[in-house]
Amino acid sequence: MEFIPGLNRPGKIVCVGRNYALHAAELGNELPTEPLLFLKPPSAVVYDGETIVLPPQSRQVEHEAEIGVVIGATVRNIDSEEAEAAIAGYVCVNDVTARDLQRTDKQWTRAKGFDTFCAVGPAVVPLEPGRWRELEVIGRVNGVERQHGEAADMHFGIPAIVAYIASVMTLEPGDLIATGTPAGVGPLTAGDIVEIEIPGIGTIANPVVGPGA
Ligand code: MG
Repeated sequence: MEFIPGLNRPGKIVCVGRNYALHAAELGNELPTEPLLFLKPPSAVVYDGETIVLPPQSRQVEHEAEIGVVIGATVRNIDSEEAEAAIAGYVCVNDVTARDLQRTDKQWTRAKGFDTFCAVGPAVVPLEPGRWRELEVIGRVNGVERQHGEAADMHFGIPAIVAYIASVMTLEPGDLIATGTPAGVGPLTAGDIVEIEIPGIGTIANPVVGPGA
């Protein structure tokens, strides 16, 4: 798909870890005192309907249903209001994660960076200021709901996250921010269909295939 006009895929992909209390708890982590940031490479992106490939290096690949924020302006050092104005729209994101490698590696580049580990789509949908609080995100595997989170329960809200990231690095049109996953992450196996839905924004569905497929 065309991600935003003139761009076939996101620029940098900035992710927030441990942004929902119940998810932090399910992995045995404390909530961070500032947003915990990491990056996924743009080469990891797949769109609605494309396959997620389980890599041979991992035995525990998991789904993470997330609300994605797409940046529409070049911004640096902004307040929350300017941050919200810089948002082009919202998308579904599956921050696919090799949980075993996340645990054993000291940082998350490999666990989060495999090809096909960032499912995004189906379209970038704009919202009026403040409406992000009404968003919900749902993760399903083979039609069974595994995750159901509300943006209102985020530890750091979306404008604060965008402003925080822009205090570190220039955000540019087409950059994607994955705002963290609610509780209920779980394994993906070959043959599964994993869906991420944000009511009012859309749904993506991706088949999961095994190594070598
Ligand atoms: Mg995540």
